[in-house]
Amino acid sequence: MTVFEDLESQVRSYCRNWPVVFDTAKGSRLTDVDGNQYLDFFGGAGALNYGHNPDVLKKPLIEYLTRDGITHGLDMYTSAKGEFLSTFEEVILKPRDLQYKVQFPGPTGANAVESALKLARKISGKEALINFTNAFHGMTLGALSVTGNSMKRGGAGIPLVHSTPMPFDNYFDGKMPDFLWFEKVLDDTGSSLNEPAAVIVETVQGEGGLNPARIEWLQGLRDLCTRKGILMIVDDVQMGCGRTGPFFSFEIAGIQPDIVTISKSISGYGLPMALVLIKPEYDQWGPGEHNGTFRGNNPAFVTATHTLRNWWTDDTLEKETLRKGEKVEEAFNKIIGDNQGTEMFTKGRGMARGIQFEGEGLAEKVASKAFEHRLLLETAGPNDEVLKLLAPLTTTDDELDEGLGIIAESVRTVIGS
Ligand SMILES: *Cc1c(COP(=O)(O)O)cnc(C)c1O
Repeated sequence: MTVFEDLESQVRSYCRNWPVVFDTAKGSRLTDVDGNQYLDFFGGAGALNYGHNPDVLKKPLIEYLTRDGITHGLDMYTSAKGEFLSTFEEVILKPRDLQYKVQFPGPTGANAVESALKLARKISGKEALINFTNAFHGMTLGALSVTGNSMKRGGAGIPLVHSTPMPFDNYFDGKMPDFLWFEKVLDDTGSSLNEPAAVIVETVQGEGGLNPARIEWLQGLRDLCTRKGILMIVDDVQMGCGRTGPFFSFEIAGIQPDIVTISKSISGYGLPMALVLIKPEYDQWGPGEHNGTFRGNNPAFVTATHTLRNWWTDDTLEKETLRKGEKVEEAFNKIIGDNQGTEMFTKGRGMARGIQFEGEGLAEKVASKAFEHRLLLETAGPNDEVLKLLAPLTTTDDELDEGLGIIAESVRTVIGS
């Protein structure tokens, strides 16, 4: 381990919680260099919805590499990109009656968010943005400016300006009617609110602690944006690609955002890839106005195409995700029932689930206890108070039972001690 501690920057983080050297991985399991196996309920922070190295993707990827298919291609037309685009239209957009132009912004979620914010400002000619309390949108300056976490914002080293936070759904525990504040300050010429170009929102806040927005809230936000001429950006980087059930997390609300950001699990294989989906009338970019060397990660296009063909041509995965999500919710409720002395509650939607602990450091202690039992889990929320389950959607029922058993045991140990 010394090479990491000696040479790698202090900025490293996940590895501090899981101080072993991983070597191989398959499905929902990782193996370290000593041959120990770990169950993965972390799922690459949402980048591994289909597990590690799935054979249905590995095979076409290896074939593509073997025949010297283009690896790097900037934004050149390639057969791999063409196949991805037509498959995405056929399998995802058309059946949902969605019309979006597709931008490849560079291969990270933050890059997709930066593009979305730039485009919204260009379209509207306004610079102000609305974000929501406890949002997470990435670590570059524009994305940080709409991110809530004060530690992460502090890393910017400069003032993060031009965004105004509004309360996310249920911020006041249901004590304040929705949008009372947002709509009031929008209408009040004395409020000092700068006219916003766009709102950026997650339908379920991942890093923010698995806070789901209600369907009515999302519909209300869409309606408010339409009435006030504000662009609506849904950041589906973590909750998209089936994490909450449907391919797009906003489908349950029947709304159409103006701009959508997608990344994490879009390649299906953990390869870097990102998309910005833009309503055609808003595709107002000039050629090269947003650029990047790695916009054409062609091996990722290949695995993304096969991901769509394998998992998204019917609703099997969506139904399974909802079913497994309920199973997790039930297990979490049982854990809460069995440990009545400590206040806890469940959060999330689909296979993005969490338990919030009302006691300092408890969620982190449970996660580290779980790691002793060789289960990977992370924490979320402004004070890391939420134990976060983001297991691959392909995790089997047996694996789920095994991991949920470890969580129950870990909670019991931590709270009992
Ligand atoms: C992870 C994440 C991002 C940032 O993606 P990176 O690839 O880490 O830059 C943006 N938005 C949301 C909602 C995310 O979960």
